[in-house]
Amino acid sequence: MRAIIRHSGRYESERRYVLPMLQYIQNAELRRATTRLASARNRMMHKVILAKTLAVVVCAAMAGSAVASTKPATAAAASTAPAQAPDGLLLLGTAGGPLARADRAGIATLLTIGGRNYLVDAGEGVVHQLGKAGMQAPAAPIVFLTHLHDDHYAGLPGLASFSYTLRAPRLDVYGPAGTVDLVGGVAQVMVPNARIRMAEQGLKHTPAEFVVAHEYGAGTIFDDGNVRVSAVVNTHFDFPDGSPAAVNKSYSLRFDAKGHSIVFTGDTGPSQAVATLAKGADVLVSEMASHADRAAVPPFVRPHMDREHLSPLEVGKLAAAAGVKTLVLTHIGVTDPSDVAEIRSVFKGRIIVGADLTKVAL
Ligand SMILES: [Zn+2]
Ligand SMILES: [Zn+2]
Repeated sequence: MRAIIRHSGRYESERRYVLPMLQYIQNAELRRATTRLASARNRMMHKVILAKTLAVVVCAAMAGSAVASTKPATAAAASTAPAQAPDGLLLLGTAGGPLARADRAGIATLLTIGGRNYLVDAGEGVVHQLGKAGMQAPAAPIVFLTHLHDDHYAGLPGLASFSYTLRAPRLDVYGPAGTVDLVGGVAQVMVPNARIRMAEQGLKHTPAEFVVAHEYGAGTIFDDGNVRVSAVVNTHFDFPDGSPAAVNKSYSLRFDAKGHSIVFTGDTGPSQAVATLAKGADVLVSEMASHADRAAVPPFVRPHMDREHLSPLEVGKLAAAAGVKTLVLTHIGVTDPSDVAEIRSVFKGRIIVGADLTKVAL
């Protein structure tokens, strides 16, 4: 039996660290399967065992998934050249706010471009959602946090720690002022597990070395030669200048890559800066506070919902002003066709109402 591992074009470091682990798991599975077959032969001396295909599915790995399977001998010589994951968006979680929902995980969107993955926000349940999509935590080696409300980073500790345990080389977290504190806390949470893994498995680097914070402000915040990321301050926060809270900023992000432009509003109210950032983008991934969502919040949150989030009509106006081709709605609680109708009254492009695990090709 031969095993073939196919994987999408990942970073070299992922191939060095994660795939060997999967190979190890796979080999162990194959040894067990072989032993079971031998026992069956002994018990059934005169019967022919036909095993055309014995599939051993190893925990799926990165985007496009790493799948190990036994193949007939004729297939054993198949090419092992990596198949690059197609460019696109994967809405891992589409819920906004701290309310747990049966039908939506916390806000998190995976952008794949040029075979690389970029995670925008890391809401509650992000690792579980990656699993549903056939991936594991190391599939998201770079995280961009739009702002530091907890619904946007609640999944970060799990993502970081499981990536560490699965021997990803590092995790980079880009976020507003406060991200250094946040990541320091995440690294601290990882310490008890890391002590055990270091003793058990010889892991060398510490959590503080593994998860790296990068605080950003407005402007170009990232460029790896594959994507360039730009940030503008939006209107999700309204703290008086000079007040201690004014250090907190909320950002909208634009990703420009060869042939693609994708803008994430993050959380925002109406904002000319966001409309300018989104000008001519292929895809606008926008938050929306539906009428039902606004009605559902307690009175002390209502002014924030009304002024510092976008109503369906405001989403439509933003998309129309920016002239985007496709509008993807996310960060939703409950929505109905009347919300889309309001958007449609002012925006004529394509509208996708996001659900968890919705894919949008680029
Ligand atoms: Zn939010
Ligand atoms: Zn928020």
